[in-house]
Amino acid sequence: MLKTVKKPYQKWLLPLEFLTFIGYLILEKMKFYSLGFLLLVLVASSCNDALKGTPALSTIEQLTLGNQRFLNNQSIHPHQNKAAVLANEKAQHPFAVVITCSDSRVSPEIVFDQGIGNLFVARVAGNIEDDNILGSMEYAVQVKGTKLLVVLGHSNCGAVQGAIDNVNLGHLTQLTNQIKVAFSHHRTYPLPEHLSDETGRLNVLFTIDHIISSSKIIRDLVNQKKIKIVGTFYDLHTGKVELLQS
Ligand SMILES: [Zn+2]
Repeated sequence: MLKTVKKPYQKWLLPLEFLTFIGYLILEKMKFYSLGFLLLVLVASSCNDALKGTPALSTIEQLTLGNQRFLNNQSIHPHQNKAAVLANEKAQHPFAVVITCSDSRVSPEIVFDQGIGNLFVARVAGNIEDDNILGSMEYAVQVKGTKLLVVLGHSNCGAVQGAIDNVNLGHLTQLTNQIKVAFSHHRTYPLPEHLSDETGRLNVLFTIDHIISSSKIIRDLVNQKKIKIVGTFYDLHTGKVELLQS
């Protein structure tokens, strides 16, 4: 019987086979882990897509919820600190443009509970538009990418009352003349307090019409549904902002 004589390298053969087997197992495991990792990536990716698809609070909702906090005496005063100052130092990205009255009782950041960098605000008595305000709005929507335009009127507005009373006073005359268009369209409520607020509400809607007819940039963006423009009305008695038109 022939005796098998192991050659010197053969004594390593078994360990090598063993190691190869271990390596094979590791590779198989790696395949398993790779598959698991791949699945994890896919799940994470789909979750991320789902999150992206989940509508975040719309810009209107942010304002509505802010006004609700204000009404409930639960304002959180967001972005009203040094960190917000620094975060907006180099650039601003306001999510809404608000054109409203100069009235000291109607401060958008307060009634909507917003802070630094949130709102791009243009204020003029009677919340009417002119070329300079249109330019400001166009800058916000075209350059800064702001998606929402808000015209915010309010009850018991002195400028609206001035239009009703046919006030003539320096430059105020041409301002109230612009509001008279709304006054001329009032239809109901002969009582003075109702007349003023009805005219104020109509004035908001006319301002929106003027903005859209006067600004091609804004008109095109609205028609392309890239921005929204809404009319709102603030009640000086309740503190509530009413949505007139969206
Ligand atoms: Zn006013």
